[in-house]
Amino acid sequence: MTSRMTRKTAEDTLHKTVCRVEGVSKEGGECVLLTLDAPEIAKLAVPGQFVMVKCTDGACPLLRRPISIASAREDKIFLLVQPVGTGTRWLCERKAGDSIDVIGPLGNGFTLPGAGENILVSGGLGAPPLLFLARILADMGKQAVSLLGAGSSSRLVLKNEMAAVCKDVFISTEDGSEGTKGLVTDLVSKLAPKSTANIFACGPLPMLARVAEIAEKASSCQVSLEAKMACGYGACMGCAVPAANGGYLHVCTQGPVFPSKLVMWRNPL
Ligand SMILES: Cc1cc2nc3c(=O)[nH]c(=O)nc-3n(C[C@H](O)[C@H](O)[C@H](O)COP(=O)(O)OP(=O)(O)OC[C@H]3O[C@@H](n4cnc5c(N)ncnc54)[C@H](O)[C@@H]3O)c2cc1C
Repeated sequence: MTSRMTRKTAEDTLHKTVCRVEGVSKEGGECVLLTLDAPEIAKLAVPGQFVMVKCTDGACPLLRRPISIASAREDKIFLLVQPVGTGTRWLCERKAGDSIDVIGPLGNGFTLPGAGENILVSGGLGAPPLLFLARILADMGKQAVSLLGAGSSSRLVLKNEMAAVCKDVFISTEDGSEGTKGLVTDLVSKLAPKSTANIFACGPLPMLARVAEIAEKASSCQVSLEAKMACGYGACMGCAVPAANGGYLHVCTQGPVFPSKLVMWRNPL
């Protein structure tokens, strides 16, 4: 069931959908992969975009929470959720057949690359939007290398899904339980991206800052930023992060994906 919001705001251009949970599976530690029946969002979504999810059944008021679209196929969208607080825990407790109220797709996604090698760098829960990107690149006949990092093997997510569409997958874990011991940024340094490389990264801010530094000589580096956001469509301005030029970047409407050169990395938040 789909309904457009009636207020004359930016919301008018978005799809507000109550969608059915088609599937639920466990992924990497406590994470949950949700398959939602959301035809209108699936049709429009591009890699890097997100949805704002109502994470309550109405009993307690809670602002919608932003969740990346981990893929869109036919009428379905996929969300990978890590339970860190009230909203995401509620989401991870959903069962097949439940309904979820979702607005999207929101934000600006990754700019698709031209020629050159494509390197996808995910730290922790950074993998979902990059899986969507890897699938689109594969559909376009373009190859990608995926670098996946996590604290430990049990917290790695979407490894098999990445391997199905990427030329290579390299793994790092901080405790050495799988792949190379260390940080995913060590893998980026080791790979020594050429000047023709296109780098796409999503993960914690310090990781993105280091990727941006290593990628300075690459052809392009796009980063997907996370920021706390209340609305997701530019009404509250709560998700501003400092820009390299001294102003601010609004993660929800101008991002969440930005060329890394636009972000003020030395004191980003
Ligand atoms: C553009 C965007 C895309 C996102 N995509 C995803 C996604 O695909 N999957 C996903 O699970 N999450 C994603 N997030 C993060 C997610 O929105 C937050 O984890 C969520 O809003 C937390 O809400 P909560 O009610 O569960 O926790 P709260 O009750 O709001 O917070 C609980 C505790 O968790 C901490 N916390 C909040 N956010 C995070 C975080 N990101 N990581 C670790 N701790 C946090 C808070 O500081 C607090 O201590 C995304 C965020 C943005 C901005």
